[in-house]
Amino acid sequence: MNERVIAPRILFWDLETSGLKADMEHLICFASQFADEPKPRIISLLDFPKDHARDPSDDKALCKAAYKRLVAADLWVFHYGKYFDSRFMRSRLAQNGHKPLPPIKWFDTWEAARNHFALGSNRLDALADFLNISDRKTYLNKRIWRRARTGHVPSIRYVNKHGYADIILLKKVYDQLKVIVPAYFDLRRFNLNPKICAHCGHSRLVSQDIRPRLSTGGFVRRLQCYACFGWTYQKLTKSEVNEYVMHNVLGSSKTAHGT
Ligand SMILES: [Zn+2]
Repeated sequence: MNERVIAPRILFWDLETSGLKADMEHLICFASQFADEPKPRIISLLDFPKDHARDPSDDKALCKAAYKRLVAADLWVFHYGKYFDSRFMRSRLAQNGHKPLPPIKWFDTWEAARNHFALGSNRLDALADFLNISDRKTYLNKRIWRRARTGHVPSIRYVNKHGYADIILLKKVYDQLKVIVPAYFDLRRFNLNPKICAHCGHSRLVSQDIRPRLSTGGFVRRLQCYACFGWTYQKLTKSEVNEYVMHNVLGSSKTAHGT
């Protein structure tokens, strides 16, 4: 069986909206990319020209198209999406009379940066700069934003480009953060081969050492990935534990007693 078939699908996504409050504002663009897709996909109000000509704030068809992609994912990756994008999306779906999203696991790069780094700013561009990622968000001035809010087509196209660039940046930031943040998502649970990197699925792991496992007792082997440098812990089998104890714990106690 192809291992990719059973791997969870990760969706990177971001909303561009006309404002911050979902009861007053609407979606302009839904930018997203599944991890197995070659490039981001943009769905915007301009993809529904008839609706847009009738009412430039009508995001019903856009919500429906976004829903199809959101619901096909096993993990959402977004930046500040826990607090903004997911809530805004749920609100617009509800107001448009759409069925609700199922509960889906998420990874918020803003939250990961806040919890694991000590940076002056956790904004996506600041975080990318800190991680030495050379891509930049496109600059969006307030005039473009104001026009896009009113349905001005060239400005919406510009907002779409902004969303596209955001997803490219988000994906690169995530690739670095996922090996720094302690195991939130263990790829081995979904793979036929348990001897892979928990973070990226690479099969070449370098065994570093064997350590006691404080949470449950016993011992684990600590491995580091050759590709992403992420840490993966492997439980030792009973015979491996016995061998380790014989050679190390008992061996050292013999030395301690001078026998
Ligand atoms: Zn890896």
